[in-house]
Amino acid sequence: MDLTPYGGVEPDEAWVEEVRKLARERDAVLLAHNYQAPAIQDIADHTGDSLALSRIAAASDASTIVFCGVHFMAETAKILSPDKTVLIPDARAGCSLADSITGAQLREWKAQHPGAVVVAYVNTTAEVKAETDICCTSSNAVDVVTSIPADREVLFGPDQFLGAHVKRKTGRENMHIWAGECHVHAGINGPELAQRAAEHPDADLFIHPECGCATSALYLAGEGAVPADKVKILSTGDMVQEARATKAKSVLVATEVGMLHQLRKAAPGIDFRAVNDRASCAYMKMITPAALLRALRDGADEVRVDPETAARARASVQRMIEIGQPGGGE
Ligand code: SF4
Repeated sequence: MDLTPYGGVEPDEAWVEEVRKLARERDAVLLAHNYQAPAIQDIADHTGDSLALSRIAAASDASTIVFCGVHFMAETAKILSPDKTVLIPDARAGCSLADSITGAQLREWKAQHPGAVVVAYVNTTAEVKAETDICCTSSNAVDVVTSIPADREVLFGPDQFLGAHVKRKTGRENMHIWAGECHVHAGINGPELAQRAAEHPDADLFIHPECGCATSALYLAGEGAVPADKVKILSTGDMVQEARATKAKSVLVATEVGMLHQLRKAAPGIDFRAVNDRASCAYMKMITPAALLRALRDGADEVRVDPETAARARASVQRMIEIGQPGGGE
């Protein structure tokens, strides 16, 4: 598939006016994920985590939702708002983590473990959510797994790093973990983190548990290589809150670099730096100014989920919302 983003449009004043006018005409609310390019975050009506945005979408009076994020996120908004029109500016914006398990693969895994409870991180397709018992976010994954009777096997996916984090926290032996990963988070590794921490000894460390570095960071903290009180494992939504609360003058951030824009806006006095400047999600950046204009002009690309799959997927998302503090997901 050709993944060249739609281009040729600068996010200037004229673009801002045109986007606002078209959004009004279409009765659309514009939502942008924290990992979107700054111009897209700035023009959106709301920015946030995937789940927080889906809730805003469901509560909105607007008849159309324009979801500036990746496809599974727009699908989740459609699952929670089946009567609304959901548009994604570029339907090719996928997710390597969501793509690491298909509905067919999950059905086969379930067949190998009859009676197991399936827990899936929100970064999954609607088809996988429909095969899932309970969805989870990074904020409530431990609570979700703890809520399952100890004698039941658990199938956890698709993020192997979040799975390792939950397994360690719960000490659960009968938990099987799918070997999926996000190409961006997997690129943030332990040695790089240790080096950056040594270069900035006074900095707090904000780590997203979907990052490949989380296990290493906790290990390093335990070894004393990184002061344990400096390490904060946070969902992206909690990062913004912690940015406002921390007394630190500088913070190293281990997640997708788009998150820095929100953090710098939330706490302009703090020096936020990425652990890895190359941790940028190419799929997220496919939502360009040109793509957003196209979505509003042409009503494309529309996200559809068949009603039966949506109903089953909705049940697993609802269970997630009922357990612990689900926060906002990625
Ligand atoms: S950063 Fe990773 S998990 Fe997030 S949307 Fe991109 S590929 Fe998916």
